[in-house]
Amino acid sequence: MKQLSTQEMVRATMSRDAGYDGAFFVCVRTTMIYCLPSCKAKKPMLKNIVFIPTRAQALQMGFRGCKRCRAADFPKIAPKWLDAVVEQMKSKTSQHLSETALTDAAGVDISTIRRYFKSQFGTTPTAFHRKMRLQHARQLIERGVNYLEAAFESGFESSSGFRDAFKKEFGSTPGRNHDV
Ligand SMILES: [Zn+2]
Repeated sequence: MKQLSTQEMVRATMSRDAGYDGAFFVCVRTTMIYCLPSCKAKKPMLKNIVFIPTRAQALQMGFRGCKRCRAADFPKIAPKWLDAVVEQMKSKTSQHLSETALTDAAGVDISTIRRYFKSQFGTTPTAFHRKMRLQHARQLIERGVNYLEAAFESGFESSSGFRDAFKKEFGSTPGRNHDV
């Protein structure tokens, strides 16, 4: 897909252009809500908006779908159990998540969950949750938490494994001054 410029996304958001729905998501840092560009709700201040290209990333970063534009249901294919699965994942950012925990939360079998994640997010539920844990770790580090502690708090058992995963995901090492 063509990379959209920030200017174009701002314009689409401010003019509520439904043609851009699904092309990116409008995430609001102050409320932790994500919207479709066409959302009819009052637009937040630009400085509080972060444009996220995919729903997967928005969810991994902890944003929730807006009730007004029903961003979570766009394009009306999200199954009913998805929220429960994502909530389950969010509540377990400091540990690995068993498939049983997911199927218990969703009330559907694991192959259904796997199939959906593969087709919609291009990944497995486990890898999706791992990225969510990395986002969690990054937020902790940004708040000044030591990276080893952040690794532990995000369910990574080895610091080297954490460091490698973090670097692969964000392109930089988790420590300050690149000293780790
Ligand atoms: Zn909205």
